[in-house]
Amino acid sequence: MSAVRGPITIALLGGGTVGSEVARMLLGNASDLEARIGAPVRLTGVAVRDVAKVRPGIPADLLTADAAALASSGADIVVELMGGIEPARSLILSAMAAKSSIVTANKALLAADGATLYAAAAKNDVDLYFEAAVAGAIPLLRPLRESLAGDTVRRVLGIVNGTTNFILTKMDEQGADYAKVLAEAQALGYAEADPTADVEGFDAAAKAAILAELAFHTRVTADDVHREGMSSVTASDIEAARAMGFVIKLLAVAERVDDGVIVRVHPTMVPRTHPLASVREAFNAVFIEADAAGQMMFYGRGAGGAPTASAVLGDLVAVARNLTSGGRGPRESVYADLPVLPVGDAMTRYYINLEVADRPGVLASIAQAFAAEGVSIQVVRQDGHGDDAGLVVRTHRATDGALSRTVERLRTLDTVKSVLGVMRVEGEATP
Ligand code: NAP
Repeated sequence: MSAVRGPITIALLGGGTVGSEVARMLLGNASDLEARIGAPVRLTGVAVRDVAKVRPGIPADLLTADAAALASSGADIVVELMGGIEPARSLILSAMAAKSSIVTANKALLAADGATLYAAAAKNDVDLYFEAAVAGAIPLLRPLRESLAGDTVRRVLGIVNGTTNFILTKMDEQGADYAKVLAEAQALGYAEADPTADVEGFDAAAKAAILAELAFHTRVTADDVHREGMSSVTASDIEAARAMGFVIKLLAVAERVDDGVIVRVHPTMVPRTHPLASVREAFNAVFIEADAAGQMMFYGRGAGGAPTASAVLGDLVAVARNLTSGGRGPRESVYADLPVLPVGDAMTRYYINLEVADRPGVLASIAQAFAAEGVSIQVVRQDGHGDDAGLVVRTHRATDGALSRTVERLRTLDTVKSVLGVMRVEGEATP
């Protein structure tokens, strides 16, 4: 029988893009939330840096600059939406010590030090929910943690960063260069003034670590993720991909291999027929392959105040229901404890764009460089002649290590003037 209790109290740390939307939804939808939870909810405070700033829909008397006091006030649920590692981590730990359950969207903290948070949640017997940390509004982590908990997940391929997907979509559709499209994305508010975390793949790597941990029941941190950004993707890479029926996406790839897991983030050529190729602009999508379930894709808005707040509110309701029923959500599951292997062990395919000398024997010397590393060629396309002679090669599957050694060999050949582009290819049917 569920315990009879008063209102569920909620303390909010952060009243910015996401936090202010969460506060407005909590205050505006209170009666529906009460009906869904079975108890009323009460927002006890919102911690911000600047209490003088007007935040529409949030009564000024709820604002406080004393985040530490609010965090440890013993609210039933503390929602952390400040971001960053500190003081967010210390505040979450002090909230847990005061027996508050936690809802957070803080991917950076979870990917850097999720283990500490999980341990404190278990020690204090409180919940830790973080659906909004990956792919914003898209219900994704709960399906991985709960709906797929009886299956074996093999692979997760994700477009988990809206900024870079917006830039790559515009480069593809307009044939424009990275710098021009980045400026447009910044003007439209899709990219930060300092875009490094997005375009160099740090944001996607944090999300990839969280996805891999849940998918493979193995602890994975952002430092375990092989990361290559997309700022070096050129209009000619995009054009070459298009000519071959591919589109370039910044993919997070987490895969289970025979003896471990490999997690990587890099620009990737994806066939235009693959479901991920249709994910345009700032949308996110995650494509999962599991033994019994087969292939499935989760698609939607990966960021923004209201979409992210939707996922936060979903967690809030789940935790509140646990509180009213006396239950707890899933604990950390890292029992499989698989080793995280280097990217060189990943089986993948490459596309390589070469500027070559226009003379007899060129193809033979290039084919030999591939053969020396045991890499077999799938397709060769020759472009132009004379000073413009170009060769585009796509390979069959080989280890990433063998493929990158092949590229090194190509760079030393006197028949190769320059290696113009190298990119991994994912999402093709495996022959
Ligand atoms: P934001 O707009 O920068 O808001 C941060 C809030 O925290 C602000 O209200 C800020 O106060 C407050 N704050 C920061 N440091 C503080 C401190 N030391 N003491 C008290 N208050 C402090 O950030 P956001 O975009 O809402 O993101 C919040 C979290 O959600 C992050 O973990 C982010 O990664 C995650 N997330 C965001 C999105 C998105 O689309 N924005 C999507 C998914 C996940 P002031 O308002 O006074 O500056």
